[in-house]
Amino acid sequence: MALKITDECINCDVCEPVCPNHAISQGIEFYEIEPQLCTECVGHFDQPQCRTVCPVDCIPLDPAHVETPEQLMEKYQRLVAVES
Ligand code: SF4
Ligand code: SF4
Repeated sequence: MALKITDECINCDVCEPVCPNHAISQGIEFYEIEPQLCTECVGHFDQPQCRTVCPVDCIPLDPAHVETPEQLMEKYQRLVAVES
């Protein structure tokens, strides 16, 4: 399941540089996560890095993008293959 950023975001910018998949970018009103790039950090870290740094805890799981751990790992492997 990808994560999403809610409108509680204060645009502090600390999450964007910690995302290993470059899935976070500045949106029109607040930061956004591209679900096709978010693996919940599977393949890179044990915990979603954006959630560990967000000062206002505004990055919940996105129920619109439900994925199993196996699907997240497959997404990670696809992303790595594209980068290499
Ligand atoms: Fe990026 Fe990980 Fe946050 Fe997804 S959970 S947006 S991959 S830092
Ligand atoms: Fe928004 Fe949280 Fe990211 Fe800061 S860390 S830009 S508050 S989502």
